[in-house]
Amino acid sequence: VAPFEGRATDGQARARPLVLSFEDVSQQRAAGQIRRDFVANVSHELRTPLTALTGFIDTLQGAARDDAAARDRFLAIMAREAGRMNRLVEDLLSLSRVEAEERMRPLDRIDLVALSRSAMASLLPLAEEAGARLELETSHDSLVVRGDADQLTQVLQNLVENGVKYGARGDKDSGANVVTIRLGVIAHEPVLRQAGAVMEVADRGPGIDPLHLPRLTERFYRVDSHRSREMGGTGLGLAIVKHIVNRHRGRLRITSEKGQGSRFTVILPME
Ligand code: ADP
Repeated sequence: VAPFEGRATDGQARARPLVLSFEDVSQQRAAGQIRRDFVANVSHELRTPLTALTGFIDTLQGAARDDAAARDRFLAIMAREAGRMNRLVEDLLSLSRVEAEERMRPLDRIDLVALSRSAMASLLPLAEEAGARLELETSHDSLVVRGDADQLTQVLQNLVENGVKYGARGDKDSGANVVTIRLGVIAHEPVLRQAGAVMEVADRGPGIDPLHLPRLTERFYRVDSHRSREMGGTGLGLAIVKHIVNRHRGRLRITSEKGQGSRFTVILPME
């Protein structure tokens, strides 16, 4: 490309220095694609309840105007659809907050035993409604990590809610309706290369096909979309969990066996 420019003392031809600059744009392209997919997904998720709402408003203004029974039925559906939109917006806000904060390490001293007890108390009504039982297993009186109490509570909430929604809808007597929170310590976590506090949520439900495990924490990824929507899921719960765990420089492991249940293990660095 560069024309030769004179000869060196040894008589060899010498090329003029030439700088070629290469920029790898594949990552930027991938990020652009992820952003576009995200916007498309959010629009789609919002459009479904919006279409239902506008449809029922039309019906209530027209054919069902004087039908009291139909009006009550439609209003109940509209309330459910509005609730779905509300949950989606709440989860989107949570996700964008934890993504924005991901570089800042939270520093409060948090006792995971106390945090789990209080999270369990607020999750009891949901579990009872679904016919599920919650249990806490730990041999520790306290287990302290550096963290953000609200966010770690949200991790537990999302995981227990999933355990109840997908895992614990079994026959009460079979023991399949139990969701267990386990707290413990691991002396050496190989990736963190230090001791870790373990916070695990396990259910004894139908489990998840291993095929799905690597993608489970992607935004809007669902194993069974119909079932997730029916259960009021937004498809963002595990994405939020993953970002919160990242923010705490922790690890999230998901293991599951078909027919045996699923286990979501969060390991947080201990001081
Ligand atoms: P959703 O709002 O749909 O529950 P999540 O991000 O929390 O979204 O979970 C993603 C998907 O992973 C769910 O739609 C469900 O298919 C699957 N899943 C999550 N937790 C469990 C579980 N404990 N047992 C079986 N499947 C689960």
